[in-house]
Amino acid sequence: MAEPYDVAVIGGGVVGCGVLRACALAGRRCVLIEREAALASSHASGGNTGIACTAADCEPGTVEHACLKRAAELNRDAYDAHNVPHAATGAVYVAYGAAEHAALDKLQAAHGAAADALGSGAAVEARCRLPGLAARGATRGVHVRHEVTVEPWCVPIAWALHARANGAELRLGQEVVGAALDDVWTLELRQRRGARAGAASALRARVLVNCGGLWADDVDSTLRGRRPPKFEVAPRRGDFVVLGASDLFIACPVGGVPLGERGRGAYAWRTVHGDVIVGPTAEPYAGRTVPADDRSATAEAALLRTARRALGVVSFAGICGRYVGLRPGTKDQSDYVIRRDGAFVTVAGIRSTGLTASLAIGERALALVEEVLPLCASVDPRGFALPSLSELRASYEGDERAGSVRIGDERVSVTHPQTRFGLCRAQSADAPRVPRRVDGAEAALAVVRELLNHGKSVKRVVGGRTSDMFRVSDEDVSVLVRVYGGGEDLGIDRDLEGATFEAAGLHLGRPRCLGHFANGRVEEFLEGHRNTTYEDVSDPAVYPQVAKAVATLHAFIPPPELCGPSGHDLDAPGLWPTLRGWLAAAATDATVAAVARDAEDAKLWSECACFRDFAAFGAVVDAAEARLSQADLDASLVFAHNDLTLDNVMVGADGTVRLIDLERAPASLRHPISHS
Ligand SMILES: Cc1cc2nc3c(=O)[nH]c(=O)nc-3n(C[C@H](O)[C@H](O)[C@H](O)COP(=O)(O)OP(=O)(O)OC[C@H]3O[C@@H](n4cnc5c(N)ncnc54)[C@H](O)[C@@H]3O)c2cc1C
Repeated sequence: MAEPYDVAVIGGGVVGCGVLRACALAGRRCVLIEREAALASSHASGGNTGIACTAADCEPGTVEHACLKRAAELNRDAYDAHNVPHAATGAVYVAYGAAEHAALDKLQAAHGAAADALGSGAAVEARCRLPGLAARGATRGVHVRHEVTVEPWCVPIAWALHARANGAELRLGQEVVGAALDDVWTLELRQRRGARAGAASALRARVLVNCGGLWADDVDSTLRGRRPPKFEVAPRRGDFVVLGASDLFIACPVGGVPLGERGRGAYAWRTVHGDVIVGPTAEPYAGRTVPADDRSATAEAALLRTARRALGVVSFAGICGRYVGLRPGTKDQSDYVIRRDGAFVTVAGIRSTGLTASLAIGERALALVEEVLPLCASVDPRGFALPSLSELRASYEGDERAGSVRIGDERVSVTHPQTRFGLCRAQSADAPRVPRRVDGAEAALAVVRELLNHGKSVKRVVGGRTSDMFRVSDEDVSVLVRVYGGGEDLGIDRDLEGATFEAAGLHLGRPRCLGHFANGRVEEFLEGHRNTTYEDVSDPAVYPQVAKAVATLHAFIPPPELCGPSGHDLDAPGLWPTLRGWLAAAATDATVAAVARDAEDAKLWSECACFRDFAAFGAVVDAAEARLSQADLDASLVFAHNDLTLDNVMVGADGTVRLIDLERAPASLRHPISHS
C-alpha cells in the first residue's frame, strides 16, 4: 500500500492553497483535493474584491485580527517573489455629512498611526484626486496607508503552484465523499468532472485539513461520519458592478464609512488591470452558489449610487459587467474557526479577509498539523514565479465568461471574473502582437530578422538620442523597431519605460506598443506623420491639438503594477529624483571621456568652469524643488511628458497630434511655472 500523505487539504480556495503552500514548504508530503476542475472557483475565492486589507477592520483579540497582522508582514514579499500583480495604493474612506463622522472617527482610531485624517471635503478630494467630491457631499475622510490592491486570482494560483513546485500534489475534479480514521485517515473520493466522472478512489493521509470554505460545514459533517456539523456556514452575498477601463482618475480605492454589522461598505477602485469596479454589497444569502443570471436590482442601484457619489460619474453607459461573491462566514460571524481535533484540523469561517490572511492562516494551520506529525527534516524550498501580467494577457484565450492562460507548460483556467474582465479587455486591443519577451540581444536580432522576412526594407530613423530606431516596412505596413542604448547610465529604467509606453499607448490611442524584446521594443509606426515645426506650434489649426494631446496624457494614470517603490510614485513629482539622477551620472569620468571625443565640446569643457560646476546645478534643483513644493502653489500632480521638444510632437496629415517618447515621463506638477 502506498505511503500515506502527511497532510490532505480539502478545498482549493485561496485558504486551502495557502495551507497547502505552508505544509509543502515545511517539507511535508501533501495533497490538495478540490472537487471542481479548477482552483479558486467558488463564489468566495472566485468572487472577491482584491484588496489586501489591514487588521484594523476586525476586533483586536480575535484570531482574524492576529492573522491579518501577520499577513501584513508576509504578503508584500510573497507577492513580489511570486510575481503577483499588486499596488500599494492605500485606501480612502469618506464620510458624507456629520451623521457619518462618528463611524469615521472609530475607523481612524482603529488604524492609529497607520492612517491620516482628511479633515475636509477638499482634503479628501485632493487625496483621491476626484474633483467635485466635496461638492457631492464629502465632508471628511481617512486615508489608510497600508491597503494593497492585488490581483485576486493570481494569489491562490501562486500559492498552489508554489506548493506544487515543492512536491505537493493537486487533485482537481475530485470530491471528498467519506472518511474513516484507523491509524491514519482513509479518504473516499469521487471523480466529479471529466471523462471518469463518478469513478471512486481513495487516498490515505495522517492529518486532514478542512478548508471547505462555503461548504466547510458539509465537509465537517462528511469527515465526522455524517454527524451534524460543529458549525454552520451562513454566506453573505456581495455584488459588484464593473465600469470597465476608464479615464476616471482614481488614485486609490475610495469607500464609504464601514457599515458596522454589514461589513466595510462598498468601494470604487481601479483593479490592477485598469478597470474601475464598484462593490461589494453585503446581504445574507441562503445558497452556496449564485446562478449566472441572478442579478440583484437593489444591489446594483445601491452600487451605482455609490459610484455616482464617489466618482461623479453621471452616466453608466460604460457598465461592462457584473459579478457576485459569497463570504463564507459562520452563523455567528464573530471570528475565524481554526482548531484541531486529533488528526483533524478545521479552517473555516474565513469570511471577508481570506485573500489577505491566507498565508498567515497557512502558518497557523501548519502549527496545528505539526503538533500531530513527527518532526521532519527542514528543506530548502524552491521558488516559483507567475508569468508577468503582460504575458498573462498575451496568452489569454477566452472571453469574460471563461478563459485560460498559459503558465509554464499548461493552460490554467481563470476562475475570477475580475481577472477575466481585465485579461479580455487587454486582449481585445486590436494591435498585432509579436513575441512579448525575448531574452537577449540574439533573440532581439531574431525579432528584427523575422520582421525583415516579411518586410521589404529596413531604414534607420534619425532623431533617437538614447536608442537606435529602424523603420521595418512591408507593402502596406511599417513598424518602428527601437533598440535601447546608452540610457541606462542616465537612470532610465527601460523595463518601466517600455511598460509605461505600452500602457500610455492604450490610453492615448496611438502609437501602440506591439511587443518588447530584451533590449528594445516594436512600436506602431505613425504613418503619414511628421515632426512638428515652430510654424506648426503657432498655427491655430495645430496648437489646440497639441494642448489636447498633452491634456489627455495628463489624465493618464499608470496601471498599479507600474507604481510603487520601483515604479512611478503618484504621490510625489518624479522630476526631482530624475534630475538628481542625471546630475549624478553627469558628474563622472564618463562625461569627461565623452566630451573629449569632440574638439569643440572639449574646448568648452576646459574653458567654461560653469559646465563643470555640478554643485551649482544641484543647488538650482534644490531651490526649484523648494519653490515648487510650497503648499500655497496649489499645483496638482499629473502624468507629464517632460521632454516636449518638437521632435516628440508628431502631426498627421489630418492635423491630429501624437506624442511620442515617454522616457522622461513621471508624475509631475501641473502649474503654469512648471510646465510639461
Ligand atoms: C464579496 C467578497 C469580497 C471579498 N473581498 C475580499 C478582499 O478584498 N480581501 C480579502 O482578503 N478577502 C476578501 N474576501 C474574502 C475571501 O474571498 C474569502 O475569505 C476566501 O475566498 C475564502 O476562501 P476559502 O478557501 O475558505 O473558501 P472557498 O473559496 O469557498 O474554497 C473552498 C473550496 O472547497 C471545495 N470543496 C468543498 N467541499 C469539498 C469536498 N467535499 N471535496 C473537495 N473539495 C471541496 C470547494 O469547491 C471550494 O473550491 C471577499 C469575499 C467576498 C465574497
